[in-house]
Amino acid sequence: MMRKPIIAGNWKMNKGMKEAEELASGIVEGLQGEEEREVVLCPPFTALQRIGEICLDSPILLGAQNLFYEAKGAYTGEISASQLVDLGCRYVIVGHSERRQYFGETDQVINKKLRAAISAGLFPILCVGEKEEEREAGKEKEIVGHQLREGLRGISEEEAKDIVIAYEPVWAIGTGKTALPSDAQGMHLFIRELLREIYNSRLAQDTRIQYGGSVKPDNIDELMAEPDIDGALVGGASLEVDSFIRIVKLRTPL
Ligand code: PEP
Repeated sequence: MMRKPIIAGNWKMNKGMKEAEELASGIVEGLQGEEEREVVLCPPFTALQRIGEICLDSPILLGAQNLFYEAKGAYTGEISASQLVDLGCRYVIVGHSERRQYFGETDQVINKKLRAAISAGLFPILCVGEKEEEREAGKEKEIVGHQLREGLRGISEEEAKDIVIAYEPVWAIGTGKTALPSDAQGMHLFIRELLREIYNSRLAQDTRIQYGGSVKPDNIDELMAEPDIDGALVGGASLEVDSFIRIVKLRTPL
């Protein structure tokens, strides 16, 4: 199976309703008929319903930035997987480094969130990535390997087929620093080999692995030219119509 590249925009805690509408409308207009790449917009919860409406008759899919793993009940302020499905979400980001860092999400919590997302029919984008000091200590593969093994613990092959992985080195997120395409490629290959070890070669070959960390119009092409980079999770550059469209559009190979 060919892996269709997937570009997702993570808007984080940005955009009021009017700005969100303008951004999504501009993207929908600019990407009419886009077929080469799967495109996902992940606005804040407050704009999901409206952005879902704007994307309705377009190839663009809706994603959420987070979910809670319980199905329902007394969890003030939380949102369940089925509530996201009701809003039209197809994807959900799980275990973003900002969730791990500021909200104390552990690999165990992330594992529960993955299961909840998959059983509700959502496609999770599982984020993994090392911090700067971990890379400096030469531990990046150990860290990412641990996050993957623990995040995927007990998840069957059938369930794991729905997961997209995003490799996001924490030192590259929002910093303007990007991993060298060859370094990112090395980590993507490592992740694919680990998937082969945990599951099998078919699943490893079919799983899409996005790169994330200061992806911009001027570095996307060299990243996408690497054989194991199957797309991007984009923060800052997804907040403007032109830069996001430029990142999505397929260009002549380098
Ligand atoms: C992200 O938050 O997933 C991200 C990669 O952000 P940025 O593109 O701004 O570095």
